[in-house]
Amino acid sequence: MKWVGAHVSIGGGVSNAPINAAAIGATAFGLFTKNQRQWAAPPCPDEQAQAFKSGCAEKGFQSAQILAHDSYLINLASPDAEAREKSYKAFLDEMQRCAQLGISLLNFHPGSHLNQIPLEKALAFVADNINRVLSATRGVTAVIENTAGQGSNIGRSFEELAEIIAQVDDKKRVGVCIDTCHAFAAGYDWRSPASYAATWKAFESIIGLKYLRGMHLNDSKGEFNNHLDRHASLGAGTLGWPVFKRLMQDSRLDKIPLILETPDDSIWAEEIRTLAEFERAAG
Ligand SMILES: [Zn+2]
Ligand SMILES: [Zn+2]
Repeated sequence: MKWVGAHVSIGGGVSNAPINAAAIGATAFGLFTKNQRQWAAPPCPDEQAQAFKSGCAEKGFQSAQILAHDSYLINLASPDAEAREKSYKAFLDEMQRCAQLGISLLNFHPGSHLNQIPLEKALAFVADNINRVLSATRGVTAVIENTAGQGSNIGRSFEELAEIIAQVDDKKRVGVCIDTCHAFAAGYDWRSPASYAATWKAFESIIGLKYLRGMHLNDSKGEFNNHLDRHASLGAGTLGWPVFKRLMQDSRLDKIPLILETPDDSIWAEEIRTLAEFERAAG
């Protein structure tokens, strides 16, 4: 059983997210819990949180089908202590918002070393901030997203993600989200049955499938291994539909949120329908 959806808008209030997701036939959804371009946002009013929860119940979304995404401003690996602390505080606020909304998965990009500190140090900063946030909150898992490896962004390789996890104390509340476009841009191929199998084999041996808590399903505008984070609509990029068919027929991806972040939201319903057909075809 696959849970498929898209990163939906929270325009007009976070309680609109489950409504927007249901409108495109989704069985999962991603969302920002606040304006992601701002460092600080006013607290989420309790009425909004209640409306969000009842909307999810009404539309049939359980907590495990929802993957929140934090603000892109946050850099938990920042070499600058002040900037890192500001990021930690914003990250803590995001975790607390998730707890308030009954969301159990918060997806975030590990950050960037800005070419000022060694990679190992940057990974340790991220792990340290995850440890801090997990001891200050309850019920929400920190889900690290793999990156395309653009510029000085960390988290491009399975080894880097595994290194962060190794330094996290509460292994039950840390996981990863694999973005198909980012992985492809970072040098993990999906295009042939053999490369697809090899990518998951590497994932299993380096990180472990039990840590896979969600995926972002995006085709790629860029070529293989070019480190460009440019999403394309499914089938319209360098990955192509056969990759998404393979993913939908892979039982290892059952019961985790599979979220589209594809650029054309007017065809999300169609993309979700096609993915569901692939799953049904597998029997
Ligand atoms: Zn993503
Ligand atoms: Zn991306």
